[in-house]
Amino acid sequence: MTVCNPAAQPPRYCSLCPRLAAFREAQERAHPEWFNGPVPPFGDAQAELLIVGLAPGLRGANRTGRPFTGDYAGGLLYATLRKYGFAEGDYDARPDDGLALRRVRITNAVRCVPPQNKPEPSEIANCRRFLFAEINDMPRLRAILALGAIAHHAVLTALGFRRALFPFEHGRLHRLARGLTLADSYHCSRLNTNTGKLSPAMFEAIFATLRGDLDPPQGGIAYPGAGLDLAIRP
Ligand code: SF4
Repeated sequence: MTVCNPAAQPPRYCSLCPRLAAFREAQERAHPEWFNGPVPPFGDAQAELLIVGLAPGLRGANRTGRPFTGDYAGGLLYATLRKYGFAEGDYDARPDDGLALRRVRITNAVRCVPPQNKPEPSEIANCRRFLFAEINDMPRLRAILALGAIAHHAVLTALGFRRALFPFEHGRLHRLARGLTLADSYHCSRLNTNTGKLSPAMFEAIFATLRGDLDPPQGGIAYPGAGLDLAIRP
């Protein structure tokens, strides 16, 4: 079940980014049956792991209204989540397919679909307030997985950390503060897998590491440091 804090969600017709709002409206005219709005997160706010992607894909999340649903990246992400026990049920590329996330919530650094999948720096900055609110709304958060360097930088900036201290590196875990870890992966896009930059095995290794990092050694013990009280503002 996904429960969203309204304060952490942009309005349905958010106009903070004029270029993206115009692109959304153009898609609405061309494809009125598509979602065509800021895509809300998927998964429970009580989750311990937050996955942050770049932005909705045009025919993926922008069409279906659920992050990573309906495109190539989602196929790889959800298969991997199921393999490592972070999701249950069948993934059928539809928001009503019954797939349920376990201990994971998924969002994007930019909530609206950008042309050519390329948000501008000002758009990433505009949407940072919603990313920050999302993170701050997760009381049991222990780890954030950034898919790609843009998501990595968006998370660091949203939380007030200096980017130079935590350079993006695939497979790296950055211990931030108050028990919060930032993990890095190349984005699970078709381009990255087709070019060999990211293999399914490399992607799976990230989740194997996160699984071990999240699970306490003897089981059943609450994670120390849970319940972040982030006082930092974007
Ligand atoms: S990308 Fe974010 S800030 Fe920009 S219009 Fe969409 S919801 Fe608003």
